[in-house]
Amino acid sequence: MTKSLDAGWFTEVFDGHGSAFSLKVTGKLLDVHSPYQHLEVYATETYGNLMVLDGCVMLTDRDNFLYHEMMAHPALFTHADPKRVVIIGGGDCGTLREVLKHSGVEHVTQIDIDEEVTKAAKRFFPALTAANDDPRAELLFADGVEWVDGADDASVDLMIIDSTDPVGPAEGLFKTDFLKRCHRILKDGGLLVQQSESPLYHTGTIIRELRDDMIEAGFSSVATLPFPQPVYPSGWWSATLAGKGCDVTRFREADAAKADLALDYYTAEAHRGALALPPFMRRLLD
Ligand code: SAM
Repeated sequence: MTKSLDAGWFTEVFDGHGSAFSLKVTGKLLDVHSPYQHLEVYATETYGNLMVLDGCVMLTDRDNFLYHEMMAHPALFTHADPKRVVIIGGGDCGTLREVLKHSGVEHVTQIDIDEEVTKAAKRFFPALTAANDDPRAELLFADGVEWVDGADDASVDLMIIDSTDPVGPAEGLFKTDFLKRCHRILKDGGLLVQQSESPLYHTGTIIRELRDDMIEAGFSSVATLPFPQPVYPSGWWSATLAGKGCDVTRFREADAAKADLALDYYTAEAHRGALALPPFMRRLLD
């Protein structure tokens, strides 16, 4: 991905896909080179604040609810009784906030490699970090791969891999070896969800490979849930779930329907709809 700033427009060019996404910016709020990545925050005319890592759009105030709700609630309503949750990445804390809306969750450990991302989220996206002081939340700053290596066998109910794209620091998070290590620390009946890029651009490549790798790592079922995400490549994104002895194509639909979690996108119906893969995806994944 490459980035340009031209006459007040931020543009992310999706290399290899002949497309780009632009937002009209009104100012630059932050420009930091951390040991891991280049972090920028802009004010935009119509999307609120915008966070960019290494030239790639991470989130905006206006539409991040789509991604964060779909990274958290389908997995939480698929697990029978999620109590111990681990988030790898997720430094903006939006996914963490969604997880903490579930009163049955007893503990969430979030491990992001880069503390600068969380510092920037606190300053420029305070709504996302509003739940950080919840006593059930533990924020660590370390490499997710190393943290997983040090974790006990069968100690986690749900793992959420809320990472950047599979280049740079997040490359190791998309490998079979990492998925095997995640499988080891999940309890039986546990599950993992990973952001899995664009259904339109990546079904036959990244999504397909990730699903194959999940099965190779020992997971017994997989499901890819597409959802809209206007600011990401193609405007359409996905989360892929993998179950350790649980069927991720089914969920606690009655619980999801009666939950009152103050959400803006996720519903039991949206979950069911996302499980109904479009024919072009089924063809590419079969
Ligand atoms: N919603 C975003 C997307 O899909 O583009 C992802 C958001 S979140 C900000 C991604 C986070 O993953 C970043 O804060 C980055 O620091 C973190 N990350 C990347 N590689 C990591 C690793 N190896 N261990 C832990 N966190 C990592």
